Amino acid sequence: MGTTDAGRHAQVVVVGSGPAGLTAAIYSARANLRPLVLAGEPSSTSDQPGGQLMLTTEVENFPGFVDGILGPELMQRFEEQAARFGADIVRRRVTRVDLSERPFRLWTSDSAGQEESVPDVSADCLIVATGARSLMLGVPGEDRLLGHGVSTCATCDGFFFRGQEIAVVGGGDSAIEEAVFLTRFASKVTIIHRRKELRASKIMQDRAFANERIDFRWNTVVVEVLGASKLEALRVRDTTSGEESLMELAGLFVAIGHEPNTALFQGQLELAANGYLVTHGGSSTSVDGVFACGDVQDHVYRQAITAAGSGCMAAIDAERWLESSKHRRP
Ligand code: NAP
Repeated sequence: MGTTDAGRHAQVVVVGSGPAGLTAAIYSARANLRPLVLAGEPSSTSDQPGGQLMLTTEVENFPGFVDGILGPELMQRFEEQAARFGADIVRRRVTRVDLSERPFRLWTSDSAGQEESVPDVSADCLIVATGARSLMLGVPGEDRLLGHGVSTCATCDGFFFRGQEIAVVGGGDSAIEEAVFLTRFASKVTIIHRRKELRASKIMQDRAFANERIDFRWNTVVVEVLGASKLEALRVRDTTSGEESLMELAGLFVAIGHEPNTALFQGQLELAANGYLVTHGGSSTSVDGVFACGDVQDHVYRQAITAAGSGCMAAIDAERWLESSKHRRP
């Protein structure tokens, strides 16, 4: 793409290239809609092409892969499948959109961050699959050991910690839910929370307090994640005494919340109070002709398979909408 392709038009433009976006691309490509996928830009952490699975090692819960598959390899396969049916997958970031009239207009930027001065893509119909990102602690070692002992998804990675001692950081419902789930595998789960009280709902708190495998480390923050090639220990600080100590652990689950990638659509699409895109009647958004799928509109399930399923829904909704809008247009 770039200036030479300025003014490029597609019937269906998919923004995002995680399981939701690429499934939407596979389905719309097989419906002969020749979708253009704006996949994101590799040097960016917020719109990583391939989505959150690119930050995962082994994926064992995606149906069809009996022996599991590496997250990046799974996304490579999604991409090849979409390309095989004619989806055009372009590594660019969308920096701005105008959804006020059709065709919708999009501005993109290249790896140098150079934004097109004029909208360089237009679309009859838009599928938003920009995903969400886990909030991270931002401490040394965390990024390096993500997928090597540090995880953001208990459902995905809990199984790898059978019989081992692990920790969960956070004090909300997610942290408690993850911790309780993880006791199915781990011998002990320590919840590390920066305050003395949990934010989680009373029922979740009761569940955690009643669980013999769950321990609490109150008024504590993680200051460093340690380990050569996999997580071996955490350096933590007591926020009341300021004292630092080491906790030897095999795993750390960061559960301090998620943030949907919806900044592009603020003021143009209806967002829920928690920032996620609102969808209704399948994958429709508040703007006719704009559909959304995957984690950008799902704060509940957040799984690759549910994202892929909703990508399929968005493609079918888009196809039907294009078909019916043919008759509506002047
Ligand atoms: P949340 O409610 O915002 O809780 C985030 C937790 O992480 C808080 O305890 C917060 O500490 C802590 N935290 C935030 N930043 C931190 C940092 N930099 N370092 C250390 N700790 C940090 O997020 P959530 O638990 O993901 O829940 C989000 C929403 O989904 C909530 O409305 C929740 O009720 C809902 N949810 C419901 C269920 C369920 O009902 N089964 C399950 C999951 C989520 P502080 O408490 O000190 O602020």
